[in-house]
Amino acid sequence: MNEPNPRCRAPAAQRCCARAFGSAASDLDVAFAVVDRASAVTALLVACVSDMQGRAISFDEPGTWTLNQRLQALIAMRLAAGDATIGLQVACSACGEAMSLDLDLHTFAGDPVAPHFTWCADDGTEVSLRLPRADDLQRWRREGVLAHEALAASLIESVAGQAVGADHCPPAAWLSALDDAFAAHDPLTALQLQTRCPACDHGQLVACDLEALLLEGFAGTQAKMLEEVLQLASAFHWSEAEILALPRWRRAHYLQQIAARGWA
Ligand SMILES: [Zn+2]
Repeated sequence: MNEPNPRCRAPAAQRCCARAFGSAASDLDVAFAVVDRASAVTALLVACVSDMQGRAISFDEPGTWTLNQRLQALIAMRLAAGDATIGLQVACSACGEAMSLDLDLHTFAGDPVAPHFTWCADDGTEVSLRLPRADDLQRWRREGVLAHEALAASLIESVAGQAVGADHCPPAAWLSALDDAFAAHDPLTALQLQTRCPACDHGQLVACDLEALLLEGFAGTQAKMLEEVLQLASAFHWSEAEILALPRWRRAHYLQQIAARGWA
């Protein structure tokens, strides 16, 4: 049995490597059933991403990454497992027909986009922006910041060359265009896919929460690990640690034998 590529080069700007989730016993420690999705992503990244010398990254580091950087690292982890396809189930907005889309993650994999960029307002004003980071999400949640203006304002670094503070309030006329500017610079974080309904031929843009789909996949991998431990422990009375210390091909072999002999 071929083991999938155990390490996949993560985006160059992060200067790190990603391994496949589900290949280490400690992957059972990652908690998916948490209210704060960003915490689950951080735990995954700390577990599976290392620097170019193979050293673990610190727990605080992924919090300083942009959402785009984190998404690219999650994609690298999934690709390291040799699984490039992710399924998206949506309903047609016109006729309600269920549509199943298979996305190839190679299409989205690449270097993270630049964390800082410039946007030009309709009146010609140049505005320097930065992409949101995971610690921004946590701060907004902690401080209960929900107003669109406040979120946008906190990502503005300067206006017409003048640095602005946290209390800066952008003109209301900018808000919608700012949204578009973030989406154009980082299309992956709020991904929109152009699709056509096979039943009624209605063309539509479908929102795709790639981070949620990837998280779902990693949670499924962890559930499969637990199921394997359960089956092997039931058949052979080995401990969890003993089972997880086995290479994956040997675990697969014993599971095949359990199935073949009808022990399951
Ligand atoms: Zn339709």
